[in-house]
Amino acid sequence: MTQTSTRAERMAMPLARDSIRKIAEAVGGCLRPVQLRRTDTVTGQTEQIMKPCGATLASICPPCADRAKMLRIAQCREGWHLEDEPGPGPAMPDETQEYWLTVRAEAQVQRDRADARGQDVADYDALLGELDVEITRAGVRGTVTTSGKGGKATARRVRSTRRRQDAPDLPKRKIGPQTIGKVFTAPDGKSYRPSMFLTLTCGSYGKVRDDGTPVDPGTYDYRRAARDALHFSALVDRFIQNLRRVLGYDAQYFGAVEPQRRLAPHLHMAIRGAVPRAVVRQVIAATYHQVWWPSTDVVRYEDDELPVWEEDLGTYLDPGTGEVLPTWDQALDAIGPQDHPLHVARFGPEFHAEGVLAGSRGATRCIGYLTKYLTKHVADCHQADTDAQRAHAARLAEALRFEPCSPTCANWLRYGVQPKNARAGLRPGACKGKAHRPEHLGYSGQRVLTSRKWSGKTLQDHRGDRKARLLATLGMDENPDPGRYTWHVVTPDDPDHMPYDRRLLYVVADRTRLKAALDEARRRAEEAAELSAAGRVA
Ligand SMILES: [Zn+2]
Ligand SMILES: [Zn+2]
Repeated sequence: MTQTSTRAERMAMPLARDSIRKIAEAVGGCLRPVQLRRTDTVTGQTEQIMKPCGATLASICPPCADRAKMLRIAQCREGWHLEDEPGPGPAMPDETQEYWLTVRAEAQVQRDRADARGQDVADYDALLGELDVEITRAGVRGTVTTSGKGGKATARRVRSTRRRQDAPDLPKRKIGPQTIGKVFTAPDGKSYRPSMFLTLTCGSYGKVRDDGTPVDPGTYDYRRAARDALHFSALVDRFIQNLRRVLGYDAQYFGAVEPQRRLAPHLHMAIRGAVPRAVVRQVIAATYHQVWWPSTDVVRYEDDELPVWEEDLGTYLDPGTGEVLPTWDQALDAIGPQDHPLHVARFGPEFHAEGVLAGSRGATRCIGYLTKYLTKHVADCHQADTDAQRAHAARLAEALRFEPCSPTCANWLRYGVQPKNARAGLRPGACKGKAHRPEHLGYSGQRVLTSRKWSGKTLQDHRGDRKARLLATLGMDENPDPGRYTWHVVTPDDPDHMPYDRRLLYVVADRTRLKAALDEARRRAEEAAELSAAGRVA
C-alpha cells in the first residue's frame, strides 16, 4: 500500500459526514438529534443526551419517520377491535407535554435575546422548529406562538340550518355514549365483533386516464378540485357526525388522508363496529359541508393595483379611492339569506367498504393501506413521471394559488375583502398557508385523523408502551427516580454545544449499545427457553 493516493481515489472516499449519516440511518438513529443536557441533581454530574427529532416524514428523517409509522400501526391495531370501553380521553397536558412547553418557552426567550443583540438566529429558529415538532408529538394541539392579534370572539352568525333540498334526509337517533360495536354470535356459539374498513373519495372533476391526468384539461374542474381539497377535513367531520347519528352510538375511527393518482384527496378509515353498506351509501349521499365565505366571483385587485396598508388605522385601503375595504366580519355579515355558499363540498358516490375481523389477515392488510404513505408528503405519494402528470399537478397548484385557504388568507385582498386579523405585507398569490404549497395539494389538515376514544391512549401513551416493552426485554426498570434529573436544551450559545457531526456520533454509539444489549437479552431469553425445554424432556 502506498501512502500517496490519486485524485480519483480521494474522490471515491466517502465524505466523513455522509458516512456517519449513512451509518446512523442504518442503525435506526435520528439524523437531526436535539442535544439535551441532563443534570443529576444529587451528584451534579451532567450528561449529553441526544433526543430524536421525531419527524414523521421520511424526507426529513427516515429513521424517526419509520418509528412514527410503527407507532401509528400500533395505535390503529389497538383501537380497531377494542372489546372494552376506553377510559375518558386525555384532557390536561401531562408531564411530558408540560416539560416540552417549558423548554420551548425557554428557547424562545434565548432566541429573542440573541436577536436583540443582533446575532444570527437561524440555529435558534431551527431549534424552535424541532421543539414544536416535539410538542406536537407529545400530543398538544396547535402551535405555541399565535400569529395575528387574536381579537374578540365575534358572535356566531346565524345561518339557515335548513337542510339542502338536493341532499336526502337522514334518520336522527340520539347518539349513545358507547363506542364499541355490536357482538354477533354464530350458531356454533363463537362470537364475532366485526369492524369496518372504508374508503371515501371526492366526486369527478372530469374524465381521467389511468395515469391520473385529465382526458380534457380544458374542461377538468380544477377550481372544484382545489376547493374540495381545501375543505376536505371539514367534510370528513360532517360525515362522522352524520354516521354517529344514524348508528346511534359514538363510533370511533382511525383515518388516513392521501391523494389518489388524479391528486384529489381520499380517505381510508378504520371504523370500530360494523356498518352496513346501505348505511354508508345513505350517509355519503346526505353529507355535505357548506362554506359560508364571501364571494370570489369578481377579481377586484390584481398585479400592481393592490390594496394598500394604512399603518395608523391598521387597515387596507382601495389603492385608487383610499376607501377602507370591508373587514372580514363585515364581509361575512353581508352574506344574506338569498346568497349561496362559496362552496359545497361532498364525497363522490363511489366508495369501498369491507368488514374486517380482529387479528385476521384482512385486518393486517387494511392497516397496511392505512399507514402506507404516512411517511411521505401528500404530493410525494405519487411521483409525477410524465410531462402530462407534471402539467396536471401544475394546473392544480395554479388553481390553488388564488383560492382563499382560510379566513386569514392574503388572497381575500384580491376579492376586495380584508382577511381576518389583517396585517401589513399581505399579497394575494403569496399566502404562506400550507394548503397552497405544491407538496400539500390543497390539503392542509392532519394526515392521520383519529377520534378521541379510538384506543383510549395518546400517541405518547403508545410510545410509553413501546418503551416499557423494550425495557422489559432488557430486564431494566422504568427510571426509578425521574425527579432526580433536570433537563436543558443545549443551544449554540452554550459552551457544551456539539457540532452536528459529533451529535451524530453520539447517536450511532447510543444505537449500537442499545442493539447489542437487546441482542444479548434476546439470546439469553432463548437460551433459558431451550434449557427449560431440555429440562422438561429430561
Ligand atoms: Zn430524527
Ligand atoms: Zn392562503
